[in-house]
Amino acid sequence: MSDPREPLRISVSRDRCVGAGMCVLTAPGVFEQDDEEGLVLLLQPAPAPEHRAAARMAVGLCPAAAIKLNSPQSSDS
Ligand code: SF4
Repeated sequence: MSDPREPLRISVSRDRCVGAGMCVLTAPGVFEQDDEEGLVLLLQPAPAPEHRAAARMAVGLCPAAAIKLNSPQSSDS
């Protein structure tokens, strides 16, 4: 269950990224692509509330599964 007011943390893997740019198109305030390789750059690891829905969408759209959601509540180890 995702409450849009809940803090959201995301991370990206440039090793996985294939430079498809879906994340940048979907959430331009959160992601960018570098000029040299076209690989993802994370602008906001903790997106502002107005960017969270788009950031979540980008996670699902990335063809390389290079974007991960890190919920602050989850005990990822
Ligand atoms: S959508 Fe995925 S593969 Fe494409 S640039 Fe973003 S992180 Fe990289």
